[in-house]
Amino acid sequence: VGLRGGWRALLALGLLRVTCAEGAIPGELRTIGLRSVDDGTAVVLRLSRPATPQVAVVRGEDGALRRLHLDLPSRTTVAAGALGGGAAERPVASVRVGVVDGDHPRIVVDLDGATDYRVARDDAHATITLTVVGPKEPGASAAEHPLRKGGRRPDAPVKIVLDPGHGGDDPGAEGFAVEKAVTLDIAERLATLLRNRLGAEVVLTRDGDDTLALKERTARANAEGADLFVSIHANANTTGRLQGIETYYLDNSTDHATLRLAQMENGLDLLKPRPGEASLRYILSDLVQVGKLDESVRLARQIQRGLVGHLRREYTGVVDLGVKRGPFYVLVGAYMPCVLVETAFISHPIEGRRLARGVYRRDVAQGLFDGIARYLRDGSRRRTL
Ligand SMILES: [Zn+2]
Repeated sequence: VGLRGGWRALLALGLLRVTCAEGAIPGELRTIGLRSVDDGTAVVLRLSRPATPQVAVVRGEDGALRRLHLDLPSRTTVAAGALGGGAAERPVASVRVGVVDGDHPRIVVDLDGATDYRVARDDAHATITLTVVGPKEPGASAAEHPLRKGGRRPDAPVKIVLDPGHGGDDPGAEGFAVEKAVTLDIAERLATLLRNRLGAEVVLTRDGDDTLALKERTARANAEGADLFVSIHANANTTGRLQGIETYYLDNSTDHATLRLAQMENGLDLLKPRPGEASLRYILSDLVQVGKLDESVRLARQIQRGLVGHLRREYTGVVDLGVKRGPFYVLVGAYMPCVLVETAFISHPIEGRRLARGVYRRDVAQGLFDGIARYLRDGSRRRTL
């Protein structure tokens, strides 16, 4: 964290919650359209008001993407003729709409050769765009079309982007150590473990004491076509009494402690917007990545479990603060499962001093590795079931 921020940040987050709140008035799904895009086909939903979809993935026995379910909020109605007569185009095979348990609409997208997908919300126009990535020509296999986003082959080793929090002009939290230094050290140790033991391809958003805007961090992960994004931080509070480990996934939250933490983590960019850079509010409301939420939650749980489990074997008094959701700017816009982990409180007399020691940072890296490895193992087991 960085002890910056202030009322402007809190105000922006407050406004955002009002903007995004899905209140008592049910919305209407007006049209479902299909559009050809560079790397596949986009399914565009137009609604009467902004809505948050829940996305579920159905895979075949071979692990291939077969179908996507996109559920709209409870009581959303569907306009007559919303599903136009347009023909589907690969990698979309067909689009259907139904109502689940008399409660909410589900858009079912059957897939043909899809290699990936992403979901974006544009709240200004009340649209949700589900982009299905894959080859367009019939009969073409994924192997003949190796280009995923970032130009990766589908059989490439897992690619993980690690984001050491803060850096350069932004030291982050300062207590018994400096956050920007410990996050880089942990990320470097973790990268070595992931490369050596999993054969993973690992990219760090910074490998020195560089200043990096928050949005450049996920932009890097997207450009790399990464499979996972993990942002590494250390926590702080003014009394020095708090301690523990917590892992976050991206969501808007009404929890005040979380908002305060998010305010600190987001502070630098919010208070010093670069010329031409969109504000947090603009980006959150206009491009909220929601497609990989389930996977982000699963990744957050495994990382939290791995880190707490490993540290408890080595140290006493390790506090598990759990998996939480929060409005972290650094996670906005990522197309892959993404989490932010607060490894320890740098301001706590015991945890902070531990964090200042290389042996503890080695153990933190090992715990993070355990969690990521378990996440990937469970994921491949699911695909082969
Ligand atoms: Zn931080």
